[in-house]
Amino acid sequence: MATAERLAHYGSWEWDLDKNELRASDNWYRIHGLNPQPITMEKLMPLAHPDDRAAIELAFDEALREQRSYDIQHRIIKQDTGEVRWLQAYGELSEDKDGTHRKLIGASQDITRYKQVEEALHAAAAFSQSLIDSMLDGFSVLDAQGVQADVNPSLCQMTGFSKEELIGTKPPFPYWPPEEYERIQAALDKALKRDFGDFELIFMRKSGERFPVIVSPSVVNDKNGNPTGYLATVKDITERKALENDLRAAVEIRDEFMSVASHELRTPLTALHLQLQLLARLSSVTGAVTDRNIGDLSKGALASAQSLVHLLDDLLDVTRIRVGRLKLKAEKMDLRSAVANAIALVQEFAKQRGSVITLNADQPLVGSWDPVRISQILSNLLSNAIKYGDGKPIEVTLIEDPSAGVARILVRDQGIGISPEMQSKIFERFHRAVSGDKITGLGLGLYIARQIIEAHRGNIRVESGPNEGSLFSVELPLHPAPEEAS
Ligand code: ADP
Repeated sequence: MATAERLAHYGSWEWDLDKNELRASDNWYRIHGLNPQPITMEKLMPLAHPDDRAAIELAFDEALREQRSYDIQHRIIKQDTGEVRWLQAYGELSEDKDGTHRKLIGASQDITRYKQVEEALHAAAAFSQSLIDSMLDGFSVLDAQGVQADVNPSLCQMTGFSKEELIGTKPPFPYWPPEEYERIQAALDKALKRDFGDFELIFMRKSGERFPVIVSPSVVNDKNGNPTGYLATVKDITERKALENDLRAAVEIRDEFMSVASHELRTPLTALHLQLQLLARLSSVTGAVTDRNIGDLSKGALASAQSLVHLLDDLLDVTRIRVGRLKLKAEKMDLRSAVANAIALVQEFAKQRGSVITLNADQPLVGSWDPVRISQILSNLLSNAIKYGDGKPIEVTLIEDPSAGVARILVRDQGIGISPEMQSKIFERFHRAVSGDKITGLGLGLYIARQIIEAHRGNIRVESGPNEGSLFSVELPLHPAPEEAS
């Protein structure tokens, strides 16, 4: 008997209420870390863990007063080692037929090991629950019948449905858009056949908004391999999709730019090649070289080389802007002479296209700007007005506005104009409102111009409409910012 008690970590006791004497089996004393000798009730209670004493007293009380047996779990302090141990304790009142000689008979089993396992399981369950709850991805648990048994807060947030609205639902779940039922059901059927993988699907928010997701299902089996439930993580890929689309658009723009750029570079290069070829042919024929044809050919070659240099400069500027290395060298300069020079430089081109350029500026307009960069902006705005100006007059106006502290440059043409939706895009890299071979360009000029103007803390705007001509207005501060002035 004693051996059996020891093996089962079990001990029994009897409390003689008349004598207030508690006798117990050897193993009971061993479990409590006591020497085997009778003790009184007063000595019994201090053996219990202080937090559990009230529960034990209540169990005793009910057993005695209401003659109910009790079955409780409580902790004790093992007297020889001071260790805390868990007991499963049973007890009940026994009395003689005439109601005399009352005894409380009890048994206790040391269940510390089970308790430790139980606590570890609890901790593991709480840990995985908190992991699931804190997951950024949605998480759903289906029982073997496919009924939604649990969802995490992320899935609720993603779909806009509350936990209560989702738990207990069967397919089609509330976040399945009706038009996608078939596709989602097919994915689910595949998963049920254990063909797991990631499924890219469309889900629906409570608001009705559709959004792309990646669903990764898995199955939970019992030890015989029968499914007891299904788990699925749901990742909202709205942002990823948007990024993919942006990336695709960027790649398309770059590819288009590459073909425009190679075409643009080829044109002056071919001209240069032809001019040099002609020069070489002439020089091989005695007497064919005259001052006149040398002059014409070298002028032509120079113009081709210059336009190549311009194109390459633009490309370099874009790189400089991208790495933040577009530096200004501001100095005192007169805008009116800069505009007059810029007009002189494009005069030949304007004449070819039939446009007359007039300048409205009655007096010098002095400010602190980077002369090279300002010429670059002017040259771009003027050549655009000529290129897209349909051979009609072009007007440049300079306004000094000391009250606003700015100088304004207005370039107005009467050409093809720009549609409202293209007006914001033309200041971006590689964006062109015209396509094809009709009017050539890299689509970089206005982007560079805006960067230069903004580096001067100014701004550029356009007013236009299809076939209504365009008005580009540039505002440049007359005075440098205090930190730039030094
Ligand atoms: P590019 O002229 O080399 O294409 P820009 O950056 O200078 O590049 O201009 C971008 C686009 O803006 C042009 O392709 C054209 O479609 C439009 N654009 C610029 N200036 C004008 C203008 N004055 N009239 C009409 N369209 C213009």
